Amino acid sequence: MIYNCHIHTFRDVDVPVKFLPFGLVRLLASQSFSRTLIKLLNHINPFSSNDLFDRYARFVQMGKLGSQRRILDECKKYYPEDTRFVVLAMDLAYMEAGGVPRPYANQLRELSEMKRTCPQVIPFIHIDPRRPECFDLFRQSVEEWGFEGLKIYPPIGYFPHDERLYPIYDYCQEHSLPVITHCSPYNPVHFRGSRKTLMRLLSDSLVELGDPQASKKILCSTFSHPANWEKVATDFPRLRISLAHFGSGYWWSRYLDNPGDQGNWLTIIRKMISKHDNIYTDVSFTMSDTGFFSLLKVLLTNDQLRKRVLFGSDFYMVETEATERRFGLDLRAFIGEENFHTIATENPMQFLDKQ
Ligand SMILES: [Zn+2]
Repeated sequence: MIYNCHIHTFRDVDVPVKFLPFGLVRLLASQSFSRTLIKLLNHINPFSSNDLFDRYARFVQMGKLGSQRRILDECKKYYPEDTRFVVLAMDLAYMEAGGVPRPYANQLRELSEMKRTCPQVIPFIHIDPRRPECFDLFRQSVEEWGFEGLKIYPPIGYFPHDERLYPIYDYCQEHSLPVITHCSPYNPVHFRGSRKTLMRLLSDSLVELGDPQASKKILCSTFSHPANWEKVATDFPRLRISLAHFGSGYWWSRYLDNPGDQGNWLTIIRKMISKHDNIYTDVSFTMSDTGFFSLLKVLLTNDQLRKRVLFGSDFYMVETEATERRFGLDLRAFIGEENFHTIATENPMQFLDKQ
């Protein structure tokens, strides 16, 4: 049995209006939206060096499918029938990017209903510690709605070591529920509030801040920095934590050019894995670039690291439809059945406590 340990099925009604830049949520959601328009936008946008608008268009197309089940079905077709999927919910109400059309509890209930009709779904609840009574919501999601883990998404403006999350980590550790955290820099999805508020939020950082004049996107990377998990991993030694994206394509490219850089997140995550028995990582999103397949295969020759890498794709955050095949088929063929079995079956079973 294969486990894809990282996908999303949240809908357009779950994202705030400023979730995408340039007013794109509204524009793309409107009736006049068409791929031609997107192509045109891509053409005239001087800042675009890649298929950014294509990606946004796909994002809105998927989000508009009308139900989380329909989005899941789009992903399922790239995998064997009995594949199980860790589906990560998203609470984006506190990133100060405008209102979210439907209440978070409704997204969670829909996900819970999806698990009932499709038992391959393993739902994780995202908790933003700024949500009032978030511990109660977490407990309800686990005890009544069948959620099986916690998702953390720091770049929208909070740290993993936020003390409001501690009762939840404690609960997770006691009930053997795992945690998956977003862990890559320079994310377009980040805190959109004022710079003053951002600097106040960042004052709790356990890592060095860097240039305070930098863009909000760069500053928000501090929230996601893997070293922020040192304290949590030490305080909760039995809490299994996956630092998703293995540092990101940005750091993987840099690693290829300069493998000795000790500040590279890939290196930091590797060190944390050898120091803490409870730290994992996943290859989601990052392996949408086939240029990284070779390095992954070489890294998997390390016995310790090999046991902590999880297979995941980050559907539907990746660029194109072809990308999902890259995860389901190409990556599997490239690293070989033995490696794939380790990262897509053995390790997930341990991480998710499924044996
Ligand atoms: Zn993701």
